[in-house]
Amino acid sequence: MTQTAEIIIIGGGVIGCSIAFNLAAKGMTGVVLLEQGVLGSGATGRSTATVHTHYSTEVLARLAWQSLQIFRSFDDIIGVGTARGQSGFTETGHLVFAGRDRNSQIKHNVELQQQVGARTSIINQVDAVGIAPGFQLDDCEAISYEPLSGYADASGTTLAFASRARQLGVRTELMTTATGLEIDQGKISAVLTSQGRISTTRVIITPGAWSRDFLLPYGIDLPLQVSRHEVASFKSPVGKSQLGERPSTTSNKLPAVSDLINQTCFRPEAGDLVLVGSAEPQDSQEPITDPAIYGQRQTQSFIESVWRRLVNRMPMMENAEYKTGFAGLYTSTPDRHPIMDRLESSSGMDGLFLCTGFSGHGLTLAPAVGRAMAALVLNDDSPFIEPPVDISQLRLSRFLPGATADRIFPFSDQNDVII
Ligand SMILES: Cc1cc2nc3c(=O)[nH]c(=O)nc-3n(C[C@H](O)[C@H](O)[C@H](O)COP(=O)(O)OP(=O)(O)OC[C@H]3O[C@@H](n4cnc5c(N)ncnc54)[C@H](O)[C@@H]3O)c2cc1C
Repeated sequence: MTQTAEIIIIGGGVIGCSIAFNLAAKGMTGVVLLEQGVLGSGATGRSTATVHTHYSTEVLARLAWQSLQIFRSFDDIIGVGTARGQSGFTETGHLVFAGRDRNSQIKHNVELQQQVGARTSIINQVDAVGIAPGFQLDDCEAISYEPLSGYADASGTTLAFASRARQLGVRTELMTTATGLEIDQGKISAVLTSQGRISTTRVIITPGAWSRDFLLPYGIDLPLQVSRHEVASFKSPVGKSQLGERPSTTSNKLPAVSDLINQTCFRPEAGDLVLVGSAEPQDSQEPITDPAIYGQRQTQSFIESVWRRLVNRMPMMENAEYKTGFAGLYTSTPDRHPIMDRLESSSGMDGLFLCTGFSGHGLTLAPAVGRAMAALVLNDDSPFIEPPVDISQLRLSRFLPGATADRIFPFSDQNDVII
């Protein structure tokens, strides 16, 4: 194993791999990525990977819009040939359904998204039925529609970033756990791993649900909570054709949906399957204390509850056949925005970068997050197809006593940041 590195990325999910690619694409050498298992084996491999731009704050809307553009031209921008895997981005369009109580908020969100350049608009029920035939929309007071959004292949995206990063010189060390940091006179001097010590002066923390525990021994208590979320898939009883007519330029007929009234998000999967998740955590009474130990299988209560809520919106799913389900972990900050930061030298951890807490939107944001983190590391904001998004609002200091997080993200409760 390598013994020195310019920079070490701890965690090989979609975030770590996107950063690795972006650093290498900027010309950085000596980049090492450590992954305790295999790439994408954390939350990434359990993601439903819906890709959209419906966010309620400017910083997330900008990251999402830039990411969507990258997803849409993934191979051109990332430089990945088919042999090395692709993002699997599929355009389906994305609808948001909300009731009267959220009418003004949805309008505000859409205006904000339009201001950052995203293709989205408020539509009426008649137009929505044209996009999603057979849907029951009587309770929808506010509907927004993004024609360019869709979903990706979470593992494919991660492996594509990683394989291009490797091609550009990044070393990916799999089955290698970072066990600690060595700090010398207030500066990072090495990462200790299950395979030995690697000297370095810079470290990026991207281990998802493991982030908080990893940094606690160094007096850094990240405000992260880990929660369990389930996904279920149902086979439509009516076949592909009645899931909805879509323009022939799109490969799937059912649009992706965030249904705020029924608290579901769903999208098509492999022909006539519908993949349904929920922003609400399951088992919220039982906080996850060890991300390696949680119920990864579906529960009967979730299947019944999410199926009922899906039928509220899609009555034709009344006789749907349940196929399969699984669970994964969200890692969330109190305001549901990630932490993207470089710690001040006064922290006693000079050289430490944070990029974690992506809740239910890490896949959507990953392409732009990698770009922004590379710029932060390299202190470089020169154009790279498009300049990186300003992420200064996402600093850890917003959670310190006396900070003004509420004023930075006035709409950012769990339901307002659509996930
Ligand atoms: C059920 C579900 C559905 C979701 N749906 C969506 C969606 O539709 N759209 C969307 O945008 N997002 C969605 N998400 C969220 C998205 O999947 C995550 O935000 C994203 O995958 C986080 O990526 P990450 O790289 O930060 O973390 P992870 O993917 O968890 O990666 C962290 C990696 O670090 C490794 N690691 C941990 N500790 C160490 C260590 N000490 N040394 C070395 N390696 C270590 C882990 O093994 C892991 O592979 C969903 C999540 C879940 C669970």
